[in-house]
Amino acid sequence: MLLDTYGRTATDLRVSLTDRCNLRCTYCMPEEGLDWLAKSTLLTDDEIVRLVRIAVTRLGVREVRFTGGEPLLRPGLVSIVQRCAALDPRPELSLTTNGIGLEKVAPALRDAGLDRVNVSIDTVDPETFHRLTRRRRLDDVLRGLAAAHDAGLTPVKVNSVLMRGVNDDQAPDLLAWAMEHGYELRFIEQMPLDAQHGWTRREMVTAEEILTSLRSRWSLVPEGDAARGSAPAERWLVDGGPYRVGVIGSVTRPFCGACDRTRLTADGQIRNCLFAREETDLRSALRADPAELGGIEQADERVAELWRAAMWGKKAGSGIDDPTFLQPPRPMSAIGG
Ligand code: SAM
Ligand code: SF4
Repeated sequence: MLLDTYGRTATDLRVSLTDRCNLRCTYCMPEEGLDWLAKSTLLTDDEIVRLVRIAVTRLGVREVRFTGGEPLLRPGLVSIVQRCAALDPRPELSLTTNGIGLEKVAPALRDAGLDRVNVSIDTVDPETFHRLTRRRRLDDVLRGLAAAHDAGLTPVKVNSVLMRGVNDDQAPDLLAWAMEHGYELRFIEQMPLDAQHGWTRREMVTAEEILTSLRSRWSLVPEGDAARGSAPAERWLVDGGPYRVGVIGSVTRPFCGACDRTRLTADGQIRNCLFAREETDLRSALRADPAELGGIEQADERVAELWRAAMWGKKAGSGIDDPTFLQPPRPMSAIGG
C-alpha cells in the first residue's frame, strides 16, 4: 500500500505521458519559450506499463488516469491503455485531455479498455477559446467530446477553469451547454502551477464566485459529503436534479485530508502532491540492471520500495495558505493535472 504518516492511502495514480501540448492555455503555459523535457529522460511505453503493473500488483493502486501535457500526442497511447487493461488486477482507466484528436481515436481507446474521459474546455465561444488557449481549435474539441460520448466513454466529464475578465461571465452558459449534451461539468479553481508564475490570489475566480454566478440561473443544493468521498469536486444538484455540477475549490476549499493521489511524471519522477517541491526518481531504479539486484522480482520490489517511501513523506496539505509557500519549479503541464 502507498500510505503516508497522516493515515491516507494513495489508490489513484496519475500518469503524465508527455509535457508537450498543442494548446497554450494562459493559466498553464506561456505562448512560447517553455523548455521540453529531454527525450532521453522520457519513459518508454514499456517502462510506463511496468510502473503501472508495479503500482497495481504491489502498491494497491486501483485507478489510473493518463494525462499530460496533452496525452493524445503520445503515439503509443492506445497500446499503453490496452496493456494496462490486461493487468491483473485490472485498474480503472481514464484519460484527461483537451479533446483535440479524440474524434479519431475515441473508438480505439474504448476498444483498448479505456473506461472514461475528462475533456477540458473553458468556453464554448470561439473568440474566448482563442483568447484562452491561443489556438483556434474549438471545433476539434467539440467533435472530440461528441465522439467520446458516442463511443460510450461515459460519463464524459468536462473540466473548466474560469479566468477573471476572460470567461468568468460564462459559467451559466457552460452549464446550460453541458446539461444539453449530457456532459458532467466541473469547475476548477485556478492554481499556482502555471509555467510563467502568473497566478495571483486576487485574480483567481473563487468557488464561491462560481456558485454565485450559477445561482443567477439555477437553484443549487449541495449533494453532501457522503457522496463526495475522496473526490475533489463538491457537487450540487441543479434545480433539484438529477443533473449535478461540480466545483473543485483546490485553493479556497482544499480537500488534502481526503487525497488519494500519487503522480508519475513523463520522465519517471514520483510526486506525492501537485504542490510538492521534492520528487523521487524511479527512472534510474527502473533502468538499473535487474541482474545486479538478483532478478526482475527484486528489481520491481526495489522500485516499489522507493515509491512507498516517496508517499510516506507526503505533507498534510498543499501549503498554499502558508506565507512561506513557494510554487513548485515543475509546471502543471510537466506534472500531469
Ligand atoms: N492537456 C490535458 C487537458 O488540458 O485536459 C491534460 C493536462 S492539463 C494540465 C489537466 C487539467 O489541468 C486541465 O483540466 C486543465 O484545465 C487543468 N489546469 C492546468 N493548469 C491549471 C491551473 N493553473 N489551475 C487549475 N487547473 C489547471
Ligand atoms: Fe495543454 Fe492542458 Fe495545459 Fe491547456 S491545460 S496548455 S491543453 S496541458
